[in-house]
Amino acid sequence: MSDLYPVKPEFAAKARIGKDDYQRLYRESVEDPEGFWAKAAERLDWFRKPTVIKDVSYKLEDFRIRWFADGELNASVNCLDRQLEKRGDKVAILFEPDDPSAPVQKVTYRQLYERVCKLGNALRNLGVGKGDRVTIYLPMIPDAVVAMLACARIGAIHSVVFGGFAPNSIADRVADCGSKLIITADEGLRGAKKIPLKANVDAALKLPGTNTVETVLVVRHTGGAVDMQAPRDRWFHDVVDGQPAQCEPERMNAEDPLFILYTSGSTGKPKGVLHTTGGYLLYASYTHEAIFDLREDDIYWCTADVGWVTGHSYIVYGPLANGATSLVFEGVPNYPSVSRFWEVIDKHQVTIFYTAPTAIRALMREGEAPVKKTSRSSLRLLGSVGEPINPEAWRWYYDVVGDGRCPIVDTWWQTETGGILISPLPGAVDLKPGSATVPFFGVRPALVDTDGRVLEGAAEGNLVLLDSWPGQMRTVYGDHQRFIDTYFRTYPGTYFTGDGCRRDEDGYYWITGRVDDVINVSGHRIGTAEVESALVAHPKVAEAAVVGFPHEIKGQGIYAYVTLKAGEQPSDELQKELVAWVRKEIGPIATPDHLQWAAGLPKTRSGKIMRRILRKIAENAPDQLGDTSTLADPSVVESLVSERKVK
Ligand code: ATP
Ligand code: MG
Repeated sequence: MSDLYPVKPEFAAKARIGKDDYQRLYRESVEDPEGFWAKAAERLDWFRKPTVIKDVSYKLEDFRIRWFADGELNASVNCLDRQLEKRGDKVAILFEPDDPSAPVQKVTYRQLYERVCKLGNALRNLGVGKGDRVTIYLPMIPDAVVAMLACARIGAIHSVVFGGFAPNSIADRVADCGSKLIITADEGLRGAKKIPLKANVDAALKLPGTNTVETVLVVRHTGGAVDMQAPRDRWFHDVVDGQPAQCEPERMNAEDPLFILYTSGSTGKPKGVLHTTGGYLLYASYTHEAIFDLREDDIYWCTADVGWVTGHSYIVYGPLANGATSLVFEGVPNYPSVSRFWEVIDKHQVTIFYTAPTAIRALMREGEAPVKKTSRSSLRLLGSVGEPINPEAWRWYYDVVGDGRCPIVDTWWQTETGGILISPLPGAVDLKPGSATVPFFGVRPALVDTDGRVLEGAAEGNLVLLDSWPGQMRTVYGDHQRFIDTYFRTYPGTYFTGDGCRRDEDGYYWITGRVDDVINVSGHRIGTAEVESALVAHPKVAEAAVVGFPHEIKGQGIYAYVTLKAGEQPSDELQKELVAWVRKEIGPIATPDHLQWAAGLPKTRSGKIMRRILRKIAENAPDQLGDTSTLADPSVVESLVSERKVK
């Protein structure tokens, strides 16, 4: 079933890391992690070079994760100051606004440095210092990057809250970490729709637990009217513009916190994931350079929002620490038309493009024409992140978007991991559609059965990591016990990812979905990803989500939700055809017991399908949907509940 796309010789010839290098470096990294990471640490600028490299124990009675523990550095210095000499006039942030006719902004490294320093001084004047928490609730504009780096400069811990979240979710996150200050804007823009950011903050700050907030800084972005409540609310520009353009960076210990980020909540209540300074920055920059095969003249575009970890590591910290040009896009893929992504690629001559399967499937639904009318000839590398990418969507991305020319890096990782852990290196690893392929340097994945026994060779089981890597999260903010219980208690001595995974005979890893989503049909384990990919491979299907439900005879049955492509009509015949199709593609064991048409699927704001909600609907327990506050469109759930197949 799995076809192979060998590394192209043209690509390999210029690549940073070739086949032999990968093998050699990987071996070094696992045989001598101390030596390997000590050398890797030289890529950062340190105030004080670390001499203690790795200090890790996953033993519950003697637990610690520390990297470069006596090193001192500042993340903003690494992203800005040290770039000034060679790249002062290079564009750091290339800003493409929501409205394609509005002016593009090009922020050079020197300009970014000055803006960050001014805000850093302003924050200090407002009484914010090392260790204080700052909530950032901004649209995708350059000031979002400025805000993050200004916090890093003065040692404040930022917590970025995605601009699509409602007042309740903002309040929860502000209360959980006790923020002192919020940076927001009057409004955001998404597909010409105005998002009332400041009004949302006002509503959030009326909710309990938020009275730690002393100041709200408001960026004037759309010019829309807002209420300003003195003395709490201050216009960003009034406070920041007159500040000196130099700001003494805080000397941070490598293990001092850099940021808190709440996970997307597709499996439960969001956790405040805490990342520290040295290991995180090193890991984000190294993976960014190696996996995206970065070159000095690349125009790099990651379409994530800075409200997600992908935005943190691969729009801000990784690219800027590497002196890259990082495109920041305020808009959405379907405004003003479904060609927008490809038009932006042509407009800015983007060379590296990194997006999510949900976006690829949505655009695939619209057919090839909106893609083919653009050139995309500047592209040389494509990336995917967030969910397993169905092989069908992978091939479309490869053939239609990349014209068969660009390798795809399917990058598996989590908010908790800080950076990519499993992914091809494009000049070194042959590709298989749907597989994240092989581990990055220093990463030691393993598969274990439910008793925790390590499985060898080709196998399927629970994905764990046997050892630490520098970008690993250090704690759940304010709840260290929850950190240990969630990740280190299930399979003692390992970090448990929560994901199910298969390893094939070539040692390639295939994520099969959350372990909770693996369905056990008459004793056979079936990954939701596999059934979904079979459905998406049907020419009329745009998207599918599959969950298990209690079944009298089989233990669990298969329940599929299917969204059709634009212009296709649901019918009983098509339903039978799809059931037969899955049976043929995977085998009788995977035959869906129920298939429900879905106009839309419940997704997190970052575009992930929330299977736990679909499971409750399939189980006919709509009163147990749990926390839905991170859903992008809650109305989708109501229609799915009312149209449920079996009553
Ligand atoms: P929560 O942990 O709050 O339930 P979440 O797991 O969706 O939310 P993230 O950290 O954003 O939050 O997502 C990480 C998860 O996304 C991984 O554990 C995995 O299930 C999935 N994932 C990410 N990238 C890939 C990929 N390339 N292939 C397969 N799955 C992926
Ligand atoms: Mg998770």
